[in-house]
Amino acid sequence: MIYTQNLPSGFKSHLPRFGEFDVIVVGGGPAGIAAAVTAGEQGYRVLLIERLGFCGGAAVAGLSGTICGLYLTVNDPAKATPEQIIFGFAERFRDALYREGGLTEPQIYGKTWVATHDCAKYKKVATTLLRSAGVTVLYHTQMIDVISENDELKGMVLHTKSGFTSVYAHKVIDASGDADVVYKMGLKTSTGDKGVIQNPTMMFKVGNVNMAQYLEYWGQDTISPPKVVSMLEARDELLRKKVWLFPTVNPGELLVNATKITGFDKRALNVTDPVDHTEAEQFSIYQAEAFFNFMKSNIPGCENAYFIDYATEVGVRQTRSIDGIARLTNDDVVNTRKFDDGIARTSWPIELHYGDKPRTEWLVEDYYEVPFHTLVPRIGRNLIVAGRCLSSEHEALASCRVTAQCFEYGRAAALAADLSLKEDIDFQSIDGVQIAELMR
Ligand SMILES: Cc1cc2nc3c(=O)[nH]c(=O)nc-3n(C[C@H](O)[C@H](O)[C@H](O)COP(=O)(O)OP(=O)(O)OC[C@H]3O[C@@H](n4cnc5c(N)ncnc54)[C@H](O)[C@@H]3O)c2cc1C
Repeated sequence: MIYTQNLPSGFKSHLPRFGEFDVIVVGGGPAGIAAAVTAGEQGYRVLLIERLGFCGGAAVAGLSGTICGLYLTVNDPAKATPEQIIFGFAERFRDALYREGGLTEPQIYGKTWVATHDCAKYKKVATTLLRSAGVTVLYHTQMIDVISENDELKGMVLHTKSGFTSVYAHKVIDASGDADVVYKMGLKTSTGDKGVIQNPTMMFKVGNVNMAQYLEYWGQDTISPPKVVSMLEARDELLRKKVWLFPTVNPGELLVNATKITGFDKRALNVTDPVDHTEAEQFSIYQAEAFFNFMKSNIPGCENAYFIDYATEVGVRQTRSIDGIARLTNDDVVNTRKFDDGIARTSWPIELHYGDKPRTEWLVEDYYEVPFHTLVPRIGRNLIVAGRCLSSEHEALASCRVTAQCFEYGRAAALAADLSLKEDIDFQSIDGVQIAELMR
């Protein structure tokens, strides 16, 4: 073993104190933004800790680029009108982004719709919401360990350029995507399909596309048409054979979701290991370039396109999932199960990035619900998670992890923090039905 999970306890007991808060949120992705804003608006002293210099997580740093999960899946979107099925914070953020000019109209994606966002506008909307809610934000700060007594989480150790410090909280929301707080607590987590995760993707953007020519060839569906899939299948250098391209709010610009990232030796990577994570970033450079060259040579309208930039970091779909009181199962998803304590509706397909082609299993004209206690670890009185690290089986996660739903997991976690503070109860004892009612 070349890593150790925790710092020596003697080190932790002598740290200076940055402060004490009612609620600490670790991670400023979609789930963390929603959690921090909701808790801040309830009047609590809230600290949001984010290792990067901006919020948005995979949606911005990973340039994942669209809000998925807002609409019901239908048989033929070309003949239907989008029906929104999730509101709350997801709708609030969608509306604010749209009014900023940072979001497209709904675009067809197979049997449903997505809306493509602009990252600059996303950052502004998140910043404005967090500031208005009075949230204390610490960027460029990493949560590196927990301070706990028995199973009770008291605070955490932060690493900054100025050194180490500690923060204390009554309630902690782990929105790190990777369940970092849960992991540091030594609680049980699982990873992917027997340790193998969905492959990461390096997203990128291209400019100067002749959109009229491009759309005439590609069509309105953002998923690659069969003629493009056939071409990709004949190209050994391109590992992914089914791709998505999204016109953005900017003229002549496409957001490209087209790479499958493995090691240079084609092995599946474990991106919580920095050696593998680094290899993912490096391999990404060549896969993205290879796909860009393919576009220029083969996709009408892209002949004179230029490469705008890669995402800030490779996009990670899956790492650790917690062992929650409830677990979202594959069966719940394919049977569109509803729950009394359902906190978010989802009609998004199982979009599994595993193997050559992403597998898309549609849930047509229906949705399932995610139960509240998928956010609650079995142990750890003051700790709840929000976002893609919730308790879920492998295929189920490939559906429930998208942005609209992550916003709502964040809101649910903050409502639960409010209830547990007011009633002085732990997260495990919260009645999920009560949270579901508050959400509605
Ligand atoms: C390539 C790709 C394409 C995707 N496409 C779409 C799409 O088109 N539409 C869609 O809706 N969804 C898409 N998704 C899914 C979506 O982006 C994520 O599921 C969603 O961002 C998860 O939100 P989250 O808040 O749970 O976690 P994340 O977005 O992962 O955010 C976690 C945040 O925590 C921070 N953090 C982590 N650890 C620490 C720590 N120890 N200390 C401090 N900060 C920490 C990270 O920097 C990050 O900002 C895509 C994902 C990928 C990878």
